[in-house]
Formats: sequence, structure tokens, C-alpha cells
Amino acid sequence: MQVTRDTFDEVMVPNYNPAALVPVKGEGSRVWDQDGNEYIDFAGGIAVNVLGHCHPELVAALKEQGEKLWHLSNVFTNEPALRLAKKLTNATFAERVYFANSGAEANEAALKLARRYAIEHFGEEKNQIISFNQGFHGRTFFTVTVGGQAAYSDGFGPKPGAIQHVDYNDLSALEAIMSDKTCAVMMEPLQGEGGIISPTQEFVEGVRALCDKHNALLIFDEVQSGVGRTGHLYAYMGLGVTPDILTSAKALGGGFPIGAMLTTAKIAASLKPGTHGSTYGGNPLACAVAERALDIVNQPEVLEGVFRKEQLFRDGLQAINDKYHVFDEVRGKGLLLGCALNEKYKGRARDFLNAATQHKLMCLIAGANVVRFAPSLVIPDADIKQGLERFELAVAQVVGE
Ligand SMILES: *Cc1c(COP(=O)(O)O)cnc(C)c1O
Repeated sequence: MQVTRDTFDEVMVPNYNPAALVPVKGEGSRVWDQDGNEYIDFAGGIAVNVLGHCHPELVAALKEQGEKLWHLSNVFTNEPALRLAKKLTNATFAERVYFANSGAEANEAALKLARRYAIEHFGEEKNQIISFNQGFHGRTFFTVTVGGQAAYSDGFGPKPGAIQHVDYNDLSALEAIMSDKTCAVMMEPLQGEGGIISPTQEFVEGVRALCDKHNALLIFDEVQSGVGRTGHLYAYMGLGVTPDILTSAKALGGGFPIGAMLTTAKIAASLKPGTHGSTYGGNPLACAVAERALDIVNQPEVLEGVFRKEQLFRDGLQAINDKYHVFDEVRGKGLLLGCALNEKYKGRARDFLNAATQHKLMCLIAGANVVRFAPSLVIPDADIKQGLERFELAVAQVVGE
């Protein structure tokens, strides 16, 4: 059957507006479309393809598990899920893991757990959830409401209640609305979708202290920042601030859908049998791939490589900017970088992305003012160099328009 981009408009719900090309194959940090055009991938499937496309070890893990056992439901546990949970608890602060299929689901579990825990230990009144403007936590109704972009949560009728937002990096605003009724504070330890915004050290430490003061749980949404993306296995490790609950997805499966919520044994105890669940959560195929991805990413040479590659990106982007003067700054950490457009190009991130696509480079945006890169953590240096050459052509094109 012949399908093209036009087929999308005929048969798909129009909630997405995908690019004109239809990719058919990927290998490492290269992708090919239906017409045989080759692209360099600086988008990484939105911070997912942490080891590039079709990494041989991930393909092997998938094939191996694919010939053994695909699915059981949570009526049974399975070896890949148990091994992955062991490795995640060994590598982090956490003692207990809940598996889901996506970032939103991991966050949904985290929020439900936080509410349960607070109600169980402190009573019904302790139900306030605080999160941050421009934050992003997924698209279920609870997570999108906790997310800080009204455009995503408005227009669907009554929202889940007791959720309040303050500005990121504004500690006194948080302090002003926090009380013993606060059940949890949810934040990204590096805001991704909201524009690649790092927290100040003072802010994250202050949030932790306020949570401790009010017996509120601190939830770090590491769906985008986790699994090596910042050069640390999880971003909290680089910040030196430990959350009570951490969520992981995107890069966790290296492209296979999986999410996880990590927490302590004490907090986890509030999700007793029957309180929460998912048919596919902890699926053996997903966990087998994620286990292999974690094994590879969580090696010093891979994590150190992230910092080295970050520098290649920063140097290259700086050289482009010295020539064309389009960014105010290059921000972010590791291989989650954002070029914040200056006054002259404000609101035009999409134009840069479209120009990049024309020059056979895949990149991302984060809002209207930031061009975002989230490539594979093992992208070859030569691909970074060639990709940046293509990006320069794209920048030159937008500047010349
Ligand atoms: C992408 C993202 C999510 C949502 O993950 P899905 O897998 O799309 O549900 C949640 N939080 C953050 C920080 C994200 O970047």
C-alpha cells in the first residue's frame, strides 16, 4: 500500500502537524526519508533516541526478548522488569520502582502517589500540588493541569483541583504559597519544553528545604533530563539535590516506549495492591530494551562523552553566532541545548527549524524563541560537525530572507 504525507491528512486525527517528509529508516544519527534523502538527526526523537537509531545492542536485546516472552500483564512479574528495577535502584537514591509506558503515565503515578501518601500520613487537607509556569509534565488531564502552560490544559472542561503554579526560579513566590497543606512540589530539574531553562542552585536547594519544612514531597520530572542527557545519569545528581520521587521515560527505552517512577520504600508503601496499575507497565520487551540502554548509558565513558560533545556543540554554535548574530545565548546542559533567539529573531524558532529541515538537518524547538538540540548521546563527532555545517546554512538562509 502506497502511503505519503498526504495520507496523514486523510486518516489521522489532526492534533499533530508533521513535517512534509516521511522517514523510513534510521541508523546512528542518520535518518532517510521515502525519497532516499539523508538527514542528520539533532532531535533524537525529542530526547528519546539516546543511543541513536537502531543501535545494534538495542536491536539485539529486542530480538532476544522478542523470541522469548512479549507480554504477561501485571498478574505476573517478569525477569527483564525485575532486572531493570534492580539496576535503577542500584544507580539512584530510589528503593522502589513503578513501570509505566510513557512520561505522562509515570508522572500521573507520581502525582497520585504523592496525594495518597499525604492523605494517609497527614490527612485529607494536605492535597495542594505546586508546580511551575512553563513546566511540562505530559498530556493526561492531571499532568497537563500540573504543567504550567494553560494553552495545553484549557478547553477541556473542569480541571483537577488544588493545583497552583509559580514562576520557575522564584523561590519567594513558592515560599509564599507553600504551607502544611502542600502535598507535593513537581518540577523539571531543567525545563525542557518550556525553553531549556536551568534552575539556579539556590532555587533547587531552596525548593528542597521548603519541601522538608512543610512535609511535602519533592517530585523531579526527569522525563527529558534523565538517562544521561545532562552528562549525569539523572540531572539531580549534578545538582546535588535529591527528590523524593523521580520520573523517567523518553531516553529510558532508547526509543521503545517505557516510563518509570522511582521513589523510596517508605513513600512507595502508599501504593498498596489495587491502588494503581497499567496493563502494559513493566512489559518484558520494553524492560529488556531499557535494561540494555541503561547498561550502555550508565558508563563513565558515555557520560563523559556527553560533556565533550556538549563542548563541540557550544563551540560550533558560538562560531555560527559570531558570524550571524541570531542568539542571545546557548543554554542547557549536556546534550539538551537551546539557542535562545535574540530580539531581532524573536518568535521565529520555527523558521530556523524549517530551514534546517530543508538543509537535511533534524532539530527541535522549545517554544517560539528557542531552537533545541537533543541528539543521541553517542552521536559521532563527525556528525556533529557536519550537522552544524548544515545548521549554519539554515541560519544563513533565515538571516538572508
Ligand atoms: C516529554 C515529557 C513528558 C511527557 O512524556 P510522554 O512520554 O510524552 O507522556 C513529561 N515531562 C517532561 C519533562 C517531558 O519532557
